[in-house]
Amino acid sequence: MAWNNDRVRENKPEIAESFFADSPRFRLFVSLIIAVSIVLVTILHFLTPLDQIVWHEIYQRLYYIPIIAAALLFGLRGGLMASVFTTLVYAPHIFLHWQHGHFDYSINQYAEIVIFNLVGGIMGTLGDRLKQARTRAERNAAERQKAYDELQKTFEQLLQAEKLSSLGELSAGIVHEVRNPLGSIKGAVEILEDELKPDSPRREFAHLAKKEIERLDKLVGEFLRFARPSQLSVVPIDLNETVESVAALVENQAAAQNVFIEKEFTEGLPAVLADAEQIKQVLLNLSINSLQAMPRGGKVTFRTFQTGENCAVEIEDEGGGIDEELLPKIFDPFFTTKEKGVGLGLSIAHKIAAQHKGSLIAASHEQNAIFRLELPHAALS
Ligand code: ADP
Repeated sequence: MAWNNDRVRENKPEIAESFFADSPRFRLFVSLIIAVSIVLVTILHFLTPLDQIVWHEIYQRLYYIPIIAAALLFGLRGGLMASVFTTLVYAPHIFLHWQHGHFDYSINQYAEIVIFNLVGGIMGTLGDRLKQARTRAERNAAERQKAYDELQKTFEQLLQAEKLSSLGELSAGIVHEVRNPLGSIKGAVEILEDELKPDSPRREFAHLAKKEIERLDKLVGEFLRFARPSQLSVVPIDLNETVESVAALVENQAAAQNVFIEKEFTEGLPAVLADAEQIKQVLLNLSINSLQAMPRGGKVTFRTFQTGENCAVEIEDEGGGIDEELLPKIFDPFFTTKEKGVGLGLSIAHKIAAQHKGSLIAASHEQNAIFRLELPHAALS
């Protein structure tokens, strides 16, 4: 399940590389090849007549290939194991075939065995160093990626904040111009309505005009809240109690829509330092969105739990989820897919969460939409 602020990373090559490099099966396979190569070279020695000294010299050098391979792949331990194994299989051949009659030559071969072990040791040390350097480089790359991801996240937050603040200024201007005349229009329509007879068909028009004015008033109110968010008045609050009170507020509407409310509260959560009214507003917005997503019934789950340094509330509904391509946009001001939506609920909620040094994220899993509000513990704020 992808949360809306997750970045999708292309990490297949990393997985493939670590599978080959670190898989025990791969290590066993390569170890077997190395051991078989050493045995094969020894068999060649045993089968080659003693008068073909040139071939013996060549085979003797062939031992370096598996020893160096083992050292580079498995480090000091691998290099020494390969050279000791070579010593064990090659020494009997020297002893049995060359010791008697070709004493000088056998001394040369014993010396070569010493060199095998030296090469195994030196190359093995080099292999270990290479491995350490690679691990360091991988760790640095991972740290760089993490820093980049954090930078990207901050950048997106800044972008969101900038969008919000410029829209806020714009909204403040509009609100100023619209609010007062709206009040006068409403009053005028009410006076006109009063003058109409109760059975006049024109009453319906007056009613329609009043409803539209109320809608505009609500819209203007939302703008106002967006443009000039009220000051936070923070106190330690019990998140379970806050969620409980919001669930109570939507209970009737939920019952009318055949929506079952489930509560999965974690007991003993630490208090969070927050403005209870604003947090209720956030949760109410999320709950109303959930109910709107389930006009034909379903289940909404309120969940509270602890996540590291934060306390979290999750609201999950079964309203069909949120399309993957819409997820990154739903917190944008004025983004809405509803016919009569304003598209400010989530962006205001997001802003409130940020003001509390918390976060609000969304995810979609199969037919479920999940919103998670996280707030820092009061003790840490
Ligand atoms: P509005 O409710 O006015 O559209 P919001 O900012 O509250 O504004 O929501 C923005 C959009 O996010 C909605 O129009 C909808 O597309 C999507 N959305 C929000 N909550 C849900 C949900 N629970 N399930 C599906 N979509 C949702």
